[in-house]
Amino acid sequence: MTERVFNFSAGPAVLPEPVLKQAQRDLFALPGVGMSVLEISHRSATFEQIIKEAEEDLRRLLDIPAGYKVLFLQGGASLQFSMAPMNLLPKDRSADYIITGSWGQGAIKEAKKLGTVREAGSTADSNFSRLPAQEELKLDPHAAYVHFTSNETIFGVEYRTEPEVGDVPLVCDASSDFISRPIDVSKYGLIYAGAQKNAGPAGATIVIIREDLLDRVPDGLPAMLDYKNLVKGASMYNTPPCFAIYICGLVFKWALSEVGGLGKIHERNKEKAKILYDAIDASGGYYRGHSVPEDRSLMNVTFRLPSEELEKKFAKEATAAGLDGLKGHRSVGGMRASIYNAFPREGVVRLVEFMKEFQQKNG
Ligand code: PMP
Repeated sequence: MTERVFNFSAGPAVLPEPVLKQAQRDLFALPGVGMSVLEISHRSATFEQIIKEAEEDLRRLLDIPAGYKVLFLQGGASLQFSMAPMNLLPKDRSADYIITGSWGQGAIKEAKKLGTVREAGSTADSNFSRLPAQEELKLDPHAAYVHFTSNETIFGVEYRTEPEVGDVPLVCDASSDFISRPIDVSKYGLIYAGAQKNAGPAGATIVIIREDLLDRVPDGLPAMLDYKNLVKGASMYNTPPCFAIYICGLVFKWALSEVGGLGKIHERNKEKAKILYDAIDASGGYYRGHSVPEDRSLMNVTFRLPSEELEKKFAKEATAAGLDGLKGHRSVGGMRASIYNAFPREGVVRLVEFMKEFQQKNG
């Protein structure tokens, strides 16, 4: 099969077609280099230029202020669940975690192994169908940091604006809404994201850290887990994930030049999500969104059908119709349509048509 389907996968996820086409062209030989990016030394001038441009383009895209370091690491966002507390949580202090889904639960579980942590808020009692209001949070003004998950990929709830944490550094797992909208990076101490949703393929993890936090890094951490050491090595303390970084670089260029930056990307994402949520809301209760309307994710649209049997049928028939990857995570059930930056509007329109037909036949 050479035709591409509409890929609603939560990650690894759809990449921009121009990026795939360029990667395909460059895979045999980078122009003027005579070797592919899979084959060149990470210490070569060619790769040094690739990683430098990737960082510069990301800085432009997210408008990252001076005073922040950018790292391209390995180990996924999951390794950051451990690295953040290892580096930023001193033994005599505690950190606050806001739990809005499975990924936040994963993050606090790892942090507990390494230091003292508090749950400053949680919406577990609603099966993570909403975000806690600011007044619900029990924040410790002396916390070493506050950790939150900007978009909970499984439940489909997303912060519109950051929780207010005063002077306490904000640490964000932004894996599933990274570069999907403009943010004010200066509000954050640390942002981390696995690349495999909006930024590129699996294999690279992006970390943005405010420089003054590096002073907290304790001595004696394993070199590969030490932000200070990794910053000193400019992401090349050891062999970095060269190919993944190269693709991320192409994605950043696409976002900047072909789409026109994060403002435009956000507009497109809002429009796509609205088409889908409007269809859910107009179905007379046949399709039911998991999240309360005000916290709905623009990235992962989660919804249920009247029965599990119908959900199975929906997923099967959708796949046959070229709408792939719609089955939801077992902790929510139902469907999940992941519509990241590179997901085309046309695919959302096709899904909505499919939903209407399915309801007519099975309602
Ligand atoms: N955090 C969030 C919000 C995620 O969506 C994911 C992956 N789906 C992770 C963390 C874990 O990422 P990784 O697989 O890169 O470790």
